[in-house]
Amino acid sequence: MTTSVLPTSPAAFAKATWDDVAPYFDDLVERPLDAATVEAWLRAWSRLEELVTEAAAQAMIAYTIDTSDPEKEKDHLRFSTEILPRMEERSVELARRFVALGHSTPDLVTTLARFRTSIEIFREANVPLFSELEELSARYQRITGSMMVEWEGVERPLPQLQPFLKSPDRAVRERAFRASTQPYLEERGALAGLFDRMFYLRQQAARNAGFANYRDYVFPAKFRFDYTPADCERFHEAVERAVTPAVARVLEHRRVRLGLDVLRPWDLAVDPYRGAPLRPFETVDEFVGKARRVFDRVDPVLGGQFQTMIDERLLDLDSRKGKAPGGYCETLHFRGRPFIFMNAVGLVDDVMTLLHEAGHAFHAFASHRQPLIWQRHPGSEAAELASMSMELLASPHLVQPTGYFSVEDHRSAWLEHLEDVLLSLVHIASVDAFQTWIYTSPDGGDAAARDEAWLRIRSRFERGVDWSGLERERVARWYRQLHIFMYPFYYIEYGIAQLGALQIWRNSLRDPAEAVARYREALALGAVRSLPEMYRAAGAQLTFDPGLIGELVDLVEHQGDRIRTELRGAAA
Ligand SMILES: [Zn+2]
Repeated sequence: MTTSVLPTSPAAFAKATWDDVAPYFDDLVERPLDAATVEAWLRAWSRLEELVTEAAAQAMIAYTIDTSDPEKEKDHLRFSTEILPRMEERSVELARRFVALGHSTPDLVTTLARFRTSIEIFREANVPLFSELEELSARYQRITGSMMVEWEGVERPLPQLQPFLKSPDRAVRERAFRASTQPYLEERGALAGLFDRMFYLRQQAARNAGFANYRDYVFPAKFRFDYTPADCERFHEAVERAVTPAVARVLEHRRVRLGLDVLRPWDLAVDPYRGAPLRPFETVDEFVGKARRVFDRVDPVLGGQFQTMIDERLLDLDSRKGKAPGGYCETLHFRGRPFIFMNAVGLVDDVMTLLHEAGHAFHAFASHRQPLIWQRHPGSEAAELASMSMELLASPHLVQPTGYFSVEDHRSAWLEHLEDVLLSLVHIASVDAFQTWIYTSPDGGDAAARDEAWLRIRSRFERGVDWSGLERERVARWYRQLHIFMYPFYYIEYGIAQLGALQIWRNSLRDPAEAVARYREALALGAVRSLPEMYRAAGAQLTFDPGLIGELVDLVEHQGDRIRTELRGAAA
């Protein structure tokens, strides 16, 4: 079969099976490929991937908006378990053909490096292993997604306990903490057994590909060309030295402010200055309208892009029955548009989540000017730089009348965010150090040894909270971290990106217009430059340097101290 004419819209693939898609790949395998035809061949391949991935994205979006519709679930599963994995296999085959041709341009250098790596580590024998891992991931989601707790006589999903963890009433907070941990204590055996199998399959896949362990495999598999396991160790050490003591000081302020002898794990989410949680908006229209004005203040072009998302109905933001939990921004590669999904209930966290996802959306708009699909998505270290920077760059504009908060409320929301930045660095170091231990230690396959290692690693990074008598609850934290099960080693990226975002924010304190302009230029590079070059274009360094990390932590801590003084002054 030759020259199949591609459909003109992803809608043509909405009900496709693999058999409908495969002929287009056969065509690209058989079509003559030489210096004269390579550009057209690449465009056709890229266009095919745009069409199929957008059809898959639409199916996923439709399902997460309405998980109760079996037809939508079926469509989504057909793409995620049948079509996309097979497409990946065929893509490696096409990549092999393209690499063998020896064709290159400056804007194809990074694409070629990724293709070569994918070809090198691909093993036929690993296809069923990764497919079983997909099934195990789905099982993890089913177990954790169906966890319910009885709260005040009503069966509720776990995320709905969130507001109670922020209650000014300490007894309510403790009950909410214990209730939301309990299902993980009950499922510990099932989840540990599930992880045993995942561990075995991952180590086996790594050995099949010629690596000593899964940690060594993951660096090329995730295209981590610009940093090494030793850099990650430096990150852990820098966090232990600079961030852990800063977090202990932050928690000490909190303990004193709350008037407590010791902080227990249920004392970490309550606002120690304002008491009851802030309510930044009442309706979705208000939520969206204010966001539009905030982004306009950051940069009118970004405000215009957000308006396009409103006009083209690319936002689904409010929490409704039947929606999947969580939030995401998905790129529709054919149309060159992003889609944002979340479950807003009217809290400060929702505002921060929207800023974050909008950063991803602006990245999708900017990078779509790159002609080929592989030239657009640069990897999570860059993607999270776009989103985490937006959280910080938009913050000054969140005050009324543009934004959501009175001057007073904005101070406490901003303080909460700065404290979260420090607390999350500590968590990131724990999760990365823990996964490193799992896959490089001889005891990583032993469930009891894993739990002990988590406690040991956690106490290295997390200080200032009294966990006595709560060891099992402390252990339960890692079972709740879905990345460890579903997206192994996806975590240090948040730390790398946060350190980049803090540098961009530091630049913005001197010259906000210049900082935003450079941010936008960096996003427009898509994936055609290396990671350090992309960071440099944004005005930041990709860093593991303890000196620079210390400086950034000092900046965050000083800003926090200033706000605390203002909040105490206002309260007096
Ligand atoms: Zn993100």
